[in-house]
Amino acid sequence: MKQTFANVIIDISHEKVDRTFQYIVPETLKDRIKAGVQVEIPFGKGNSLRRGFVVEVTNQPEFDIDRMKEIAGISPDSVSVQSQLIELAWEIKKLYGSTMNQALKTVLPVKQKTKRREKKTIRCCLTREELTKALEEARGKSYRARTRLFEAFLETDQIPGEVVEHQLNITSASLKPLIEKGTVEIIRREICRDPLKGLQKEETGVALNAEQQAAAETFWNSYQSRLIQGPEGTSNRLSKEKTWLLYGITGSGKTEVYMEMMDRVLKKGRQVIVLIPEIALTYQTVMRFYKRFGGRIAILNSRLSAGERYDQWELAMKGEVDIMIGPRSALFAPFSNLGLIVIDEEHEGAYKSETMPRYHAREAAILRARLSGADVVLGSATPSMETYSRALSGEYGMLRLQSRAFSDSRLARTEVVDLREELKTGNKTMFSRCLSAHIQDRLNRGQQVMLFMNRRGYSSFVSCRSCGEAVQCPHCDVSMTLHKNGRLYCHYCGYSLPMPKLCLSCGSPYIAGFGTGTQKLEEMTRQMFPEARVLRMDADTTAKKGGHEEILSAFEAGEADILIGTQMIVKGHDFKNVTLVGIMAADLSLNTPDYRCAERTFQLLTQAAGRAGRGSKAGHVVIQTYQPDHYSIETAARQDYEAFYSREIAYRKMMNYPPACRMSAVLFAAKDEAALDSFCQEAEKRISRILEELSVSFQSIGPVNAPVYKVNDMYRKILYIKCENCDILDKIRDSMDFLMKYSTGAVQVQYDVS
Ligand code: ADP
Ligand code: ZN
Ligand code: ZN
Repeated sequence: MKQTFANVIIDISHEKVDRTFQYIVPETLKDRIKAGVQVEIPFGKGNSLRRGFVVEVTNQPEFDIDRMKEIAGISPDSVSVQSQLIELAWEIKKLYGSTMNQALKTVLPVKQKTKRREKKTIRCCLTREELTKALEEARGKSYRARTRLFEAFLETDQIPGEVVEHQLNITSASLKPLIEKGTVEIIRREICRDPLKGLQKEETGVALNAEQQAAAETFWNSYQSRLIQGPEGTSNRLSKEKTWLLYGITGSGKTEVYMEMMDRVLKKGRQVIVLIPEIALTYQTVMRFYKRFGGRIAILNSRLSAGERYDQWELAMKGEVDIMIGPRSALFAPFSNLGLIVIDEEHEGAYKSETMPRYHAREAAILRARLSGADVVLGSATPSMETYSRALSGEYGMLRLQSRAFSDSRLARTEVVDLREELKTGNKTMFSRCLSAHIQDRLNRGQQVMLFMNRRGYSSFVSCRSCGEAVQCPHCDVSMTLHKNGRLYCHYCGYSLPMPKLCLSCGSPYIAGFGTGTQKLEEMTRQMFPEARVLRMDADTTAKKGGHEEILSAFEAGEADILIGTQMIVKGHDFKNVTLVGIMAADLSLNTPDYRCAERTFQLLTQAAGRAGRGSKAGHVVIQTYQPDHYSIETAARQDYEAFYSREIAYRKMMNYPPACRMSAVLFAAKDEAALDSFCQEAEKRISRILEELSVSFQSIGPVNAPVYKVNDMYRKILYIKCENCDILDKIRDSMDFLMKYSTGAVQVQYDVS
């Protein structure tokens, strides 16, 4: 008879999660033991009973069975939040091919020994008049932090501590004098259950328009009909969970709809997680939720330390908050009665984890919702191909918003400029005649301009006019980018060196930078429009803490006329005075070796265009491109998502790319090229055998060289597997682990599925 064994972790909130203990599963419990179940186990010398969580059930004993102990029984209150998250980790491991430890570390925060922090609220003690005066004074003296704080107090007189610290970037050192003067006070641990408290009535929310109302009602009617009433009017889950797409153009008021849905779910005593891309998690966004729901919200962001993160976790665990807002990782908030997960801008690349397990928040959210009996709402103006195709097929519910929420704001007018024509007329600058005329016009009128360029640095590469060689990173297969400080940088590994005076391969002095980046764009803009005040926002200018928020609020306050930047500037910031958006080189993102590049280009262009005319003034967008006829550019110019979708889905079906199939990728990397080759040959044989045994229909490609073959001195090859069934990676991993143990030369293997 085959015996089964359970790998168990003991008291997770206490110590590290990277150690499991193996126990024998008694025959009588065989049917009930699975990942996530809480069990009683004999532990330590005295064999006293401890509580543990089963993380894995297996037929493989890890040590001598004669010395192995048996599980004593199943704990009575076996369905805790941790159990649910462990079950989720199990699902994630299977789908994305990670180890159970990697998955557990993703879903469970490890307790760090830090000083317990309280939930703080900062309250303004000034009257309206005093506040206005204080604000003027702060502005006059250029007290930046104080100005930001007082401006925020104009909207509400209570702000959560974490918002003051992380979104407004105000340190406790700069708060201290204000507390001493009695300008502000800190309220500790008081949870503002009444969101209306301290707010003026007209600020507490807008009345939904007919379209928004219809979307919220459709959702709610369905949700309510699936709610299972628990004892004493409580409700604990849905009979069947559902995923929704809220497909609404930019400015159609999706956030108001989320808040209405959340409000209703919260009133049923259930909890809500809201995912927002980190980059859009600005003060304005957070405050919109805070104004409506008050202190029931906990906020996560990547700037929190592990200890601070754990504190937010504890608030959720203890039921002191019932809304968790944050980027990807907020998905794992330990709510015991989770009723709704909202994912704003669901198409965003940032929802995909770049480390193992390389999970996608959208997919993981659906897995979690299934375990909790909750719904998922995905919101976007440009849904991902995956989501939209599922909404069309009826797998997801479709909710639509087709007009802008402000009746006096319209979609911007868009013009496409063919840069080839521009060159023919002898214009060699970065600005087409059309774009520069429009910029000049806005400057004359005192309106603001955004210029978008999806590449940072000064010149995109440096090459030699004599031999044609470009300067490559010695550690990666990419050209190095020239920055304005006179150094060359590798954007893949960070390596840098001073700009050489002579060509590194032939010694010729005729070497120069070609192509452009945001730094050069900034310089050219200052030359063309010397009277304009220019700000630049990219990874280089926002590297320091809070750099992000500082640039945005300066631009918002009208301290500059032109904001130049990479994709950072197009994501979710509303500037009422921006009436012109210039897209300098729309094709940059088209020429990347990835089947999703057209989709990315369309999304970026549509988002950038959506930045113009957010207020009541009409907006204008100028798209400069060398490929005006490419469908992603042409449809983005018309803001026609459906037209883009139908072209793109036809291409994906023809080429058999997701969402027409699932594509798994096994990435092999090694410093030693020969070792990599021989490993790949053996791996390929084994993987084909596994796939054949599974008898699924599949198509495999490779292993082929990765689009950038060498990164950071590691050579990389990828094996692509296209098939319908997607949890094949878990099976492949076992075999690869075995192979790694016996191969010479350190080969790393990573897994991904899309
Ligand atoms: P989206 O997320 O779809 O781009 P937002 O939710 O940010 O749109 O809304 C855009 C703007 O319209 C916001 O300033 C918001 O306050 C406003 N708004 C949304 N719904 C309404 C409404 N029903 N009435 C008035 N203003 C609204
Ligand atoms: Zn040369
Ligand atoms: Zn490099």
